[in-house]
Amino acid sequence: MKIIFESCSENEAFARTVVAAYITRLNPTLEELSDVKTAVSEAVTNCIIHGYEGGEGDIVMECCIHNSDINITIEDYGIGIEDIEKAMEPLYTTRPEWERSGMGFAFMEAFMDKLDVESVPGKGTKVILKRTIGSCG
Ligand code: ATP
Ligand code: MG
Repeated sequence: MKIIFESCSENEAFARTVVAAYITRLNPTLEELSDVKTAVSEAVTNCIIHGYEGGEGDIVMECCIHNSDINITIEDYGIGIEDIEKAMEPLYTTRPEWERSGMGFAFMEAFMDKLDVESVPGKGTKVILKRTIGSCG
């Protein structure tokens, strides 16, 4: 599944809902569903507020399922991240003035089995989220 949508806050709920619908076939528990939706929301919000800094741009979301593994990539073509390791530290934010708490990546890590971030300053950012559904009885 691959969708391209505009960078605007309304599309955060859209992206989250699309992923939820897509993974329904795996019969996720409500908790699993909520975890995945939260991670997707955090990643998409980051594209909107950091990647495009509230301006225009496309966000590409791809999702695939292999057995009970879901793999979600969320990509923007915005400003990119200078220091990925630092950006991923809990409580680190470049936007304290916008009341961001710097917990987005920490949530993605906590709610998914695996998080990978690829980014090139000036070119954009790609977040890869993985989770096995049905592994925690
Ligand atoms: P919160 O998610 O708690 O509201 P936050 O967005 O600042 O705060 P994280 O989601 O953990 O925290 O992101 C940490 C930092 O990584 C951001 O402050 C920003 O500098 C950078 N960042 C994250 N995603 C992107 C992106 N898509 N493009 C550019 N920079 C990003
Ligand atoms: Mg964030």
